[in-house]
Amino acid sequence: MSIPPNPNPNPNPEQLAAEQLAAAFETTFGDRPEGIWAAPGRVNLIGEHTDYNDGFVLPFAIDRTAMVAIRRRSGNTARLISSYGQPELVSVDLGTLSAGTMNGWTAYPLGVVWVLRQMGIETGGFDLYLHSTVPSGAGLSSSAAIECAVATAFNELGAGGLSLNELVLVGQRAENEVVGAPTGILDQSASLLSTAGHAVFLDCREQSSKLVPLDLAANGLLILVIDTKVTHAHATGGYAARRASCELGAEVLGVAALRDVAASELNEAAGLLDPETFRRVRHIVSENQRVLDTVALLDDAGPGAIGELLTASHASMRDDFEISCPELDLAVETALNHGALGARMTGGGFGGSAIALIPAAAEAGVRAAVESSFAGAGFTAPDIFTVSPAAGAHRVP
Ligand code: ADP
Ligand code: MG
Repeated sequence: MSIPPNPNPNPNPEQLAAEQLAAAFETTFGDRPEGIWAAPGRVNLIGEHTDYNDGFVLPFAIDRTAMVAIRRRSGNTARLISSYGQPELVSVDLGTLSAGTMNGWTAYPLGVVWVLRQMGIETGGFDLYLHSTVPSGAGLSSSAAIECAVATAFNELGAGGLSLNELVLVGQRAENEVVGAPTGILDQSASLLSTAGHAVFLDCREQSSKLVPLDLAANGLLILVIDTKVTHAHATGGYAARRASCELGAEVLGVAALRDVAASELNEAAGLLDPETFRRVRHIVSENQRVLDTVALLDDAGPGAIGELLTASHASMRDDFEISCPELDLAVETALNHGALGARMTGGGFGGSAIALIPAAAEAGVRAAVESSFAGAGFTAPDIFTVSPAAGAHRVP
């Protein structure tokens, strides 16, 4: 079969990819799939580590998806395969599924199946073939893309009747309770609620969302993702430590969450907090404001106006929240020096990807400059590609 493997995938037009996936499904399982569902990865435009502080985030779905081909079968066995790496068929008795015992990549699709069962929605046995063009572990949420594709599929096949917001929570529960990653609703919201040409403004306290226009092409702009290929071993520990600092800051300041601290209250907070906790708090408080400012600018002046906010966000993560790394800083700095309007690391930090907002005409120059600066610094060559704000999870017709 000729599906190109992740993690260096070439995105195909959706129909072509779906046709290839259906053919691969038939070769493996001996029958055509009942349907194919696709759910996108996401880039967080701005609003980092604000989600678990009851704050604001502004992600958008990208034109790279996890696609699942599914056919239900009699009995209670699930057979799953992914085109990723060395494809290997995994066969599971669904009667034995339990949250604590799943591991490997099948924990994402089977985690969703398990959560649906907790909600009284039975999938029954099935065959599933996954093909994803979302690079894994690059901070683009390949995991939520899988969860959202599977949740959307079984919601439809099993007539679950769940709303998009309920499906967000299904994906989040799979990630929290089965995979064991303590993540918020950002990734699944972006993957499920997006529409093309828009970002999704999320209020993580209210769990409410609003679409915000992000028409890059009409403004002669594009967003470049620079995947540094860095995965730092201390990313998990660093994430937990940042969460703990935020909780401490909120406790000392006497608020339910850092969402409740206004920028005008930072001076006073400085006198109450130790210097490190204060810097962590300042990042969250200023980042929430930057998200609100970005939304206002996108509604009003358009994407050409948000560059400085993106760059200020990076500086805050580098200096106050201390979650950047030399590769991310170099990517941001080089992009800015070669025509980017703004640039920042995106995702949890300690590696992963940076984004740069650039005039379309500057693309070749920025790519070349970043590649040569990485080579000059002795860093692993980055993977650089454009993303555009795309549709959320859907059935491929
Ligand atoms: P991210 O969501 O930022 O890409 P995660 O660590 O949350 O990173 O999720 C990556 C995991 O998702 C991988 O380790 C793998 O288990 C699973 N995954 C991602 N893409 C695929 C794929 N194409 N096939 C199978 N599993 C995948
Ligand atoms: Mg993930």
